[in-house]
Amino acid sequence: MSKTAGYAAHAADKALEPFSFERRKPLATDVQIEIAYCGVCHSDLHTARNEWGGTTYPVVPGHEIVGRVTQVGDAVKGFKVGDLAAVGCLVDSCRECPACRESLEQYCEREMAFTYNSPDPHTGKMTYGGYSTQIVVDERFVLRVPKNLDLAGTAPLLCAGITTYSPLRQWGAGPGTKVGVVGLGGLGHMGVKFAHALGAHTVLFTTSPGKVEDAKRLGADEVVISKNADEMQRHANSFDFILNTVAAPISLDGYLELLRRDGTLCLVGVPGEPHPSPNVFNLVLKRRRLAGSLIGGLQETQEMLDFCGEHNITADIEMIRMDQINAAYERMLRSDVKYRFVIDMDSLRK
Ligand code: NAP
Ligand code: ZN
Ligand code: ZN
Repeated sequence: MSKTAGYAAHAADKALEPFSFERRKPLATDVQIEIAYCGVCHSDLHTARNEWGGTTYPVVPGHEIVGRVTQVGDAVKGFKVGDLAAVGCLVDSCRECPACRESLEQYCEREMAFTYNSPDPHTGKMTYGGYSTQIVVDERFVLRVPKNLDLAGTAPLLCAGITTYSPLRQWGAGPGTKVGVVGLGGLGHMGVKFAHALGAHTVLFTTSPGKVEDAKRLGADEVVISKNADEMQRHANSFDFILNTVAAPISLDGYLELLRRDGTLCLVGVPGEPHPSPNVFNLVLKRRRLAGSLIGGLQETQEMLDFCGEHNITADIEMIRMDQINAAYERMLRSDVKYRFVIDMDSLRK
């Protein structure tokens, strides 16, 4: 067992505070990673405040983890001490079900372990995430980091990156397609970068007029202020695919109407309260689809990281100290993040 410093929430209405706990001693196939940086995802906030239900306290959030390997088990083949390594939203799964056999571990049909707030199959305790100085993970769930990328800007790729990359690939974003991204937050800004890099005509929908110039710099061909009905209407029946990253309930009809026949609106944002039910006519009259997507499997996450290495893509980040996390959550709720907070974990070691 090794002592680990972290930050935890102890109740839904309590601020996060310093918390010390034990990580398991690395098993034969485990990699121990000293965490350099951890991104701050809106899911961390939803979980810390129990907005989805099911939070077990204390909870140590954080699933956008990058760092260096400090120890490996005897049977580890892919990593050695000193290597860069990354961990995303998953730290285990059954490895045998049809989903796992296709490396779609995020859709495991039996038991998977999220990086935090899941029962840990190795210890029987709950998993604790990346708001901490180190983590121990089976090498099968550890990713390789391209050496040319800025390490802090790489952390958000492990959730915001893969959660947008996976559906964009699944629904064929590329040259000749018109793709919308709703919300310019952590996920949304990665969605814009990927849709642009994949060659799609990329349109960003935002509620924040102050983000228009940034969206264009990040790769949007057009930006629509979603509160402006005329601007929205100009895009009616024109999109192949729209990715909704918003962390709050919104009208889905406003976006379904913008899809062409057979177009798909995919939800990745998971608000604590449900969206109002869409009008069925908006689906049936044009054979449109309403879909969802959860992060990505290990194979695709590695593919995404390698794609980022080739295209030199990282997140636009604002670095914070661990003790600034509560203020960062408040700013995230005001959509005041450009475009991902990343915690410098050295701030917890000093
Ligand atoms: P975020 O950084 O807070 O970004 C959300 C963005 O949504 C905001 O920046 C804002 O963009 C827009 N927005 C916020 N409130 C809004 C409202 N009331 N109406 C319209 N737009 C609003 O959050 P994130 O980290 O990107 O996460 C987004 C959501 O995805 C969260 O619910 C999170 O839990 C979920 N998530 C899902 C998965 C998955 O696998 N499916 C993975 C990770 C995260 P504008 O200012 O541009 O309007
Ligand atoms: Zn996340
Ligand atoms: Zn499985």
